[in-house]
Order: sequence, then C-alpha cells, then structure tokens
Amino acid sequence: MERIGPLLLVEGRNKSKVPFSRSLYINCQDKVLIDTGAEPEALVNLKLQYGVDLIINTHYHPDHTLNNHLFKDTPTWINPIEFKTARSVDSIAKLNGIYQEWGPSGVELFRKSVPKEWTENLSNISGCYQYEKEYRFGDVNVIFLHTPGHTKGFSCPYFPDLGVVFVGDYDMTTFGPWYNGTDGDIEEFISSAKRLLSLDVDTYITGHQKGVFSKQEFHEAMYRYLEIINRRDQEIESLVKKGLNFNELVRIGIFYPKESLKEPIFQTWERVGIRKHLERLNLTVPGANNEYLITS
Ligand SMILES: [Zn+2]
Repeated sequence: MERIGPLLLVEGRNKSKVPFSRSLYINCQDKVLIDTGAEPEALVNLKLQYGVDLIINTHYHPDHTLNNHLFKDTPTWINPIEFKTARSVDSIAKLNGIYQEWGPSGVELFRKSVPKEWTENLSNISGCYQYEKEYRFGDVNVIFLHTPGHTKGFSCPYFPDLGVVFVGDYDMTTFGPWYNGTDGDIEEFISSAKRLLSLDVDTYITGHQKGVFSKQEFHEAMYRYLEIINRRDQEIESLVKKGLNFNELVRIGIFYPKESLKEPIFQTWERVGIRKHLERLNLTVPGANNEYLITS
C-alpha cells in the first residue's frame, strides 16, 4: 500500500479503473476513510487493524461510494449539495440524465436495474461536511474544496500542510473529462481544473489508474486531458456540418466506444454529453428536442 506521510492509498480492483476507485485512508489519531471504491478485503483489513471512525465521500457516484455498506455503523459524510440531491433512486435517475432522455418509463427501468447495494451505500450517508472549511483529524488538516463540473457537488480533499490534494475523477485517463450527468458542466469542469492547478501542492492523487502525480506531471497531463474537450467540440462540429441529426450523432461514439453504446446507461451519458457540447458550440440539430427536456 503506497503511503504519503499519514495518508495510505488503498487500491481498487483493476488499477482502480471504473467501476472501482482508489480510497484514501488518513492514519492519525482519527481514522478517516475517503471514498470506498477500493478492494473490500483491504478496507475490511484497515477497519480491523486500525479502525475507521468516519467515512467521507467526495461525491455520490457508485464507484466512489461502492463499499459504504461495509461500514454500516460508521458516520458517513458526503458533500452538502449531494446530501440534499443524491440519496434516492429518483434523484439519481435525474442526475444521470435518465429522466431527461427517456422520461418516466426510463426511470422505471432504471429503478429495476439499480443494484440493491448502491441504494444501501447511499442510505448509509448520515451527514455532510462543509466546503472550504478546515477540518482537523488528529494532526492532519484537510479542506474539502468545492470543485464542481464532474458533478455539481464534487469535492477534492486538500491537505495544505502535506502539500497533497486528492483529485478523484480528475483522473487524467485517456477517456478524458467526464461531465455526462445533468449535474455536470463543461465550463465548471475547466475552471475547477484551473483551481486545482493553482494549488500550492507537490503531489496530486487521482481516484483511477495511475494515481500519484508530481506537480509537473499533473500540469502536463491536465493540458492533454482538457484538450480532449476541444477535440470533442471539433468532432461534433464537423459532424453537424456534414448534416447529421441528433440520433445519428449519438450513434457515432464520441465519448464511449461505439459497441458499448448498446448499454442503456452509456447511451444515456453519450446523449447528455453531446447535448452539452452542442449547447457550448451554439449549434442546433434536428431531433434533439424531447418533451422531458423542459420538465427535467
Ligand atoms: Zn465520479
């Protein structure tokens, strides 16, 4: 297990790739576990060996709340926005674009497909932390930066004294930035990225794949990562110029590999993502409107 001062990096399965993620364990007098997407065996071992006093979720996504259910009697906090908006299946369906794209019948199908454990993981959440406030766990200071864009409530735990920030889904993967829920926002994603780059830190820890980045590595990776947003813009713009309508656009595979678009949830996120770029580019295409867009 990699260690940075009092912080232990707990790996998730398959290099912490989605649908798993990396957890961060603060090993001081107060034992705090940030995100629960790591290997359940490793998490249970930590609990047995040192204990876990508090669980913190950076945001509500299932790969970051994955094993909340292993800590039933432990206080579990999430960010204040998602404490209000992301704790029922109906609200999750809205935040993921299910209602916007497919209406009530889609929500009904989604409800049947949600694993029992995920609802359990969300119902485990008992409170929320405040953004931008300095918390002291043992001798470790942490501030939960509000860094919206990936989701509205997304936060990055920042350890000013250690010169470390846990950037979670600013994961620097080749997939690129993810803002494909209805609560995701491209402009906010970019401005939160800039804020992360401006921090006085030596070490960035991502929630998926590579993990530990030096300041310089992270700055370079972020440049390439944000470039993917421009690439998506350009691809969509040229397809629209060729005359593709919305239903044709969403079958190309701008975000997800074409073959994975058979999966309803990927298809939904593909549609939501393309809508965001069309809006950003100020483009309208035939077939993009539906009755649920107005009511969602
Ligand atoms: Zn996420």
